[in-house]
Amino acid sequence: MSQSNTSVEQPQKIHLPRTSESETLKKIRHTTSHVMAMAVQKLFPKAQVTIGPWIENGFYYDFDTPEAFTEKDLKSIKKEMVKIIKRKLPVIREEVSREEAENRIKGINEPYKLEILAGLTEPITLYHLGEEWWDLCAGPHVETTAELNPDAIELESVAGAYWRGDETKAQLQRIYGTAWETPEQLTEYKRRKEEALRRDHRKLGKELGLFIFADPVGPGLPLWTPKGTILRSILEDFLKQEQVKRGYLPVVTPHIARVDLFKTSGHWQKYKEDMFPMMADDQESEEKEIGFVLKPMNCPFHIQIYKSELRSYRELPMRLAEFGTVYRYEQSGELGGLTRVRGFTVDDSHLFVMPEQLEAEFLSVVDLILTVFKSLQLKNFKARLSFRDPASDKYIGSDEAWEKAQGAIRSAVETLGMDYFEGLGEAAFYGPKLDFIFQDALDREWQLGTVQVDYNLPERFDLEYVAEDGIRKRPVMIHRAPFGSLERLIGILIEEYAGDFPLWLAPEQVRLLPVNGEFLPWAKEVAAKMQLLGIRAVADTSNERLGKLIRNGEKAKIPVMGIVGSKEVESNSLSIRTRASGELGSIAVDTVMERLKVAIDTYGNF
Ligand SMILES: [Zn+2]
Ligand SMILES: [Zn+2]
Repeated sequence: MSQSNTSVEQPQKIHLPRTSESETLKKIRHTTSHVMAMAVQKLFPKAQVTIGPWIENGFYYDFDTPEAFTEKDLKSIKKEMVKIIKRKLPVIREEVSREEAENRIKGINEPYKLEILAGLTEPITLYHLGEEWWDLCAGPHVETTAELNPDAIELESVAGAYWRGDETKAQLQRIYGTAWETPEQLTEYKRRKEEALRRDHRKLGKELGLFIFADPVGPGLPLWTPKGTILRSILEDFLKQEQVKRGYLPVVTPHIARVDLFKTSGHWQKYKEDMFPMMADDQESEEKEIGFVLKPMNCPFHIQIYKSELRSYRELPMRLAEFGTVYRYEQSGELGGLTRVRGFTVDDSHLFVMPEQLEAEFLSVVDLILTVFKSLQLKNFKARLSFRDPASDKYIGSDEAWEKAQGAIRSAVETLGMDYFEGLGEAAFYGPKLDFIFQDALDREWQLGTVQVDYNLPERFDLEYVAEDGIRKRPVMIHRAPFGSLERLIGILIEEYAGDFPLWLAPEQVRLLPVNGEFLPWAKEVAAKMQLLGIRAVADTSNERLGKLIRNGEKAKIPVMGIVGSKEVESNSLSIRTRASGELGSIAVDTVMERLKVAIDTYGNF
């Protein structure tokens, strides 16, 4: 009966190429979308063809039709596509003049194509499928439809879309499809899609009772329920402990500040679009930009604490840490679950260091991040050197400061012998970063922890320390956040674990299940004993039949369940079921508690 554990299953490793990286897939998807458009126009002669590009996992085409497509329509369209593919129609490129293209379009009466044509640059190319269908297109395509494999193609869904994405324009019908080189790739793609749905943190977060979104509160603003709050606290406490070991000092700072603070930091100039609008008392203050803003970052606050006294070299490095909630005005269309939100808590810290301490401090921050990942059982990640794009003007600070900071990061990573790649244009506006990109069980990439080296903000805020020789010097800042943000991290963890949290992180670690009401008082007693040891245990009081209690516990993904009946009470034991190792039979209560303690303290399983 150990069917419950789903966290150890290994996905088969079939590589799925991305369209952007594969010329073959581009050709396949481009051509498949034309075949689909041809099939649609055969079955629905009134349908007008608009645009049909490839996307990362497939393609789509937008049609103007009097009636919306149904699931049944998709089936008949697919059937028609198979017929077209089997006719082995050649894909023929034809270059024409603008007038010629116009005439041909007028001949088939497709006004959308005229608009598309107006936006095209020479040469104008038409692509024909055999002799009866063509569209304006720049390619690339396969040579004949025979190169497409009907078993590697699937039409997925229909959605409404507006012409040119503009809601004042015509409402169109968009058909999404996917096409691969082989049927095996299609199967793997569908498996991952299904698995992603099963792991979706928005769905699981609701089922496990971790967080909610409420319309009256607003989009992108999660509310943490008791279980989710416990999870957050465990993560916070874990990192706080690690920080105490490494000499960090806790601080707390407000959620709003004068706009001037962010002018000095440069946020207002470089980052204003991502901030909530300023709160001003009246029209005049509004015009003079006198007012308060919600903080988009914690850095300028920690800088004020550093600056509140003249610092001596003896105090450095000074490592100020805060779980600081920040607010960013993300577009509402971009908000989805916990991975993009408008208010989130950064496990932030700013280290003020002497230039000669920079490398050692940077290495110790990387060490902390690696410790965090290990405890969270996140193994698959790579390091990205996020440098500035020299051609862009979105950065502050001198070339010299940037060169120094980028050099420091590169040399630290080389010292560690870590695998890394460079991301030009990925830097923060005030300095370069080392970002940890985590690859999850479904090969999706997420950015987690980050470390940044910054010579610019110390300059802008005129930070100093008194050096050993009595001369005032400028410190360097390191910004770092191993989690990135609690919201994002929890969203990623839910999906990576598929809701099966490791024992140390599970909001409810142990549930005691009395076989009937008679044994509830004893189950409560045992739960209380466990709680005294800091174990998050509860007795199930729902008074349901045992089978139902077990099913509920499994649905809630409780790591350890202990069944309590007369035999257990007599022998002072529990009949144990775990998610990690299945049914373990009867174990003495004291032994269960000891083993739980050890497993929790070592971030392991029961
Ligand atoms: Zn094309
Ligand atoms: Zn910062």
